[in-house]
Amino acid sequence: MKLAILSRAPHAYSTQRLQAAAADRGHTARVLNTLRFAIDLATPEEPDLLYRGKQLSDYDAILPRIGGSITYFGTAVVRQFEQMDVYTPNTANGISNARDKLRAIQILSRHSIDMPATAFVRNRADVRAAIESVGGAPVVIKLLEGTQGIGVILAPQVKVAEAIIETLHSTRQNVLIQRFIAESRGRDIRALVVGDRVVAAMRRIASGDEFRSNVHRGGTVEAVQLDPAYEQAAVRAAQIMGLRVAGVDMLEGDDGPLVMEVNSSPGLQGIETATGLDVAGAIIDYIANQVDFPEIDVRQR
Ligand code: ADP
Repeated sequence: MKLAILSRAPHAYSTQRLQAAAADRGHTARVLNTLRFAIDLATPEEPDLLYRGKQLSDYDAILPRIGGSITYFGTAVVRQFEQMDVYTPNTANGISNARDKLRAIQILSRHSIDMPATAFVRNRADVRAAIESVGGAPVVIKLLEGTQGIGVILAPQVKVAEAIIETLHSTRQNVLIQRFIAESRGRDIRALVVGDRVVAAMRRIASGDEFRSNVHRGGTVEAVQLDPAYEQAAVRAAQIMGLRVAGVDMLEGDDGPLVMEVNSSPGLQGIETATGLDVAGAIIDYIANQVDFPEIDVRQR
């Protein structure tokens, strides 16, 4: 198989591991800088791509690793590959859906995936009712496009929550209001989904009295064997989003998994280190298998 890894970080752990896993299996994998493509729409019905100003050679598959800051252009490039009938495990639509926390929650709740109760309002007059509707204080406030735990705030009282939300609204920031899942106690689960299975999972544990378990916020990680309910929730959430390679984040609620987020370019370093598993190899094997034996893809019907 000839694979293009779309990434602006050729030296990053994940990119290097994917490239090495492909080479080990006798595939050719090139890392192509997502921002160096030119989308060529000059000839009707012949969608094409240039790379670094030259005609792109033929690829069997791509693996998009699109960073949050280039979602618009990156998904346009992925969409172009889709139109050229090059296989991608994550479609442009899937990546766009996952990038927007609100859109992701809307899509998942429509398909009865359990999530923390969430509300989204714009007018000041609606804020208090929204906080009450998710269970009152303490309540979690989230910036729509935050990552690494930045922009995720726990407000202890309704008045504080109102003040924070009002301040963020006044700077034109959209926020989600979400029930605080106290029983998860600063822990969450990251499940790495490839195709229709979870290939690795870890628990992230927040440090001290921090409620956010992100490693960037000082959290630690441990390997975990998931209950079937958690595996099922993760696989379903990824598939509903249109992602065949995804990192699904879940809180451990009293009644089972509560999906928080589905990540379309999950990092591999934390999870491979925590579990000792060859996640990169599993991703490459899945893509190669799809290239050899394409499944009928309902997403494209
Ligand atoms: P980011 O995308 O920035 O990582 P998340 O929505 O994943 O933001 O939140 C960061 C962390 O905060 C999570 O990993 C989790 O530990 C904690 N957290 C988020 N939402 C809730 C919630 N509703 N209840 C309890 N803890 C939460």
